[in-house]
Amino acid sequence: KSFSELGLPPLLVERLEREGYEVPTDVQAAAIPPIFKNHDVVIQSYTGSGKTLAYLLPILSEVGPLKKDVEPRDNMDVEAVIVAPSRELGMQIVREVEKLLGPADKRLVQQLVGGANRSRQEEALKKNKPAIIVGTPGRIAEISASGKLHTHSCRYLVLDEVDQLLAFSFREDMHRIIQHVGRKSGAGLAGANGAKTMQADRQTIMVSATVPFSVIRAARSWGCDPLLVQG
Ligand code: AMP
Repeated sequence: KSFSELGLPPLLVERLEREGYEVPTDVQAAAIPPIFKNHDVVIQSYTGSGKTLAYLLPILSEVGPLKKDVEPRDNMDVEAVIVAPSRELGMQIVREVEKLLGPADKRLVQQLVGGANRSRQEEALKKNKPAIIVGTPGRIAEISASGKLHTHSCRYLVLDEVDQLLAFSFREDMHRIIQHVGRKSGAGLAGANGAKTMQADRQTIMVSATVPFSVIRAARSWGCDPLLVQG
């Protein structure tokens, strides 16, 4: 299938062609349709397979200046939060988004990684009102706790390298992110018995090189019942 046949908007397909991306990779062809259908997914794939665009393309089809309906952005809140376990991965993801956006649209994506000046990041959030946030768990949780990042109406939460994000060192920050991002009505975590008590309003997209059962079990405890996509 081509990018158009997968349902990507013409402007986005044009930008992909400009970058020399002509056919979807296997993981893109497998992941894009269920993401469009609003399924929570775990994408099992390795670096180099095109996994980043597998989740970015459906998000860019619904959010920001390349989306299907061309009306101007009516919602100025954050619409997608992408969490990565390292600054390096975060920066790679930002570069992939920026390649597809025009120069005037680059402020729609903002990086919130640790080790960079926090107040400058907060000022940029206020000024640019980005649609897409890409960052590391500590900095996202910190800025979110300070009230300077509003993510309650966020539509997508992406956990890239989710197996690493579930490591003990990220526990508290991830707990905060999973509980707050895209949860409009204060939906809580499911009980310790794993019962799916409340459905999140957001869509959760996870990416992992391997899918240990612990990832699926953790996702279920947040109220997700993810489809496993392999590519
Ligand atoms: P990733 O697996 O996301 O780290 O991507 C690996 C590399 O493949 C990146 O440099 C992408 O720019 C590139 N890439 C992603 N999708 C495609 C595609 N459909 N055709 C050609 N190259 C691609």
